[in-house]
Amino acid sequence: MANLNGKVALVTGGTGGIGAAICLRLADSGAKVATNYRNEEKARKWQADAKGKGYDITIYQADVSSLEECTDLAKKIEADLGPIDILVNNAGITKDTTFRKMTKEQWDAVMKINLDSLYNVTKQVIEPMMEKGWGRVVNISSINGQKGQMGQANYAASKAGMHGFTMSLAQEVARKGVTVNTVSPGYIATEMVMAVPEEIRNKIIAGIPVGRLGNSEEIAALVDYLCSDEAGFATGANFSINGGQHMM
Ligand code: NDP
Repeated sequence: MANLNGKVALVTGGTGGIGAAICLRLADSGAKVATNYRNEEKARKWQADAKGKGYDITIYQADVSSLEECTDLAKKIEADLGPIDILVNNAGITKDTTFRKMTKEQWDAVMKINLDSLYNVTKQVIEPMMEKGWGRVVNISSINGQKGQMGQANYAASKAGMHGFTMSLAQEVARKGVTVNTVSPGYIATEMVMAVPEEIRNKIIAGIPVGRLGNSEEIAALVDYLCSDEAGFATGANFSINGGQHMM
């Protein structure tokens, strides 16, 4: 467990499967955690559930594909909790279909939410982190950004693009105490994956050497480590966490 006492963390898309586990884990490590959402009803319910478990997560409505909304989001977090020390770019979507059938809308939606969001959100926090001389940025990519996946030309391109961003930004900010890393999860037992018919899910599991899906807490534990002081020498890296499904 990292010691994140006194740190302020923003986890985008924290009301989803993986993001929620990251929020709780960083809070367990002592950080003050904020997240954003689009779906208010779902987010309020999630916040109340977390509160019931003893977690005080601050939530804000903001679409990561809007630069303006991300600017407002960062200002509100700074006013309510303090300057952001840790950013986890986790919000993401899929719009799967073969490239032949893919519409420009499906392409654009994925690029705007998965890739433009890196500009929109990171832009708000990087200068203050550099001025402070400490910061952590963790970008949640995907195994399919590393190996490609049929029906995911848009998603895989966006997720591969994330790591190009990670490597470039990491070089720009390394001397200022700010690290930037990518985490690339394999198949995780979130609602989305559990909704896949059992027969297909079993085929996916058969292709995973450890013989099971991952769980969100395992991703959260890796993110927690990358946010710690101990991880100060890890930067510009892409951490695969996929049960051995894709070894690089
Ligand atoms: P979920 O669909 O459960 O959660 C996604 C979250 O992102 C939701 O909280 C959603 O909020 C938020 N979100 C989506 N679009 C926007 C937007 N425009 N602005 C703000 N928030 C937004 O996904 P997972 O937890 O499964 O995935 C989290 C990340 O992990 C994603 O980047 C995904 O690509 C990646 N990943 C997931 C894997 C898996 O097996 N599940 C495997 C590999 C990578 P709201 O509901 O309010 O829209």
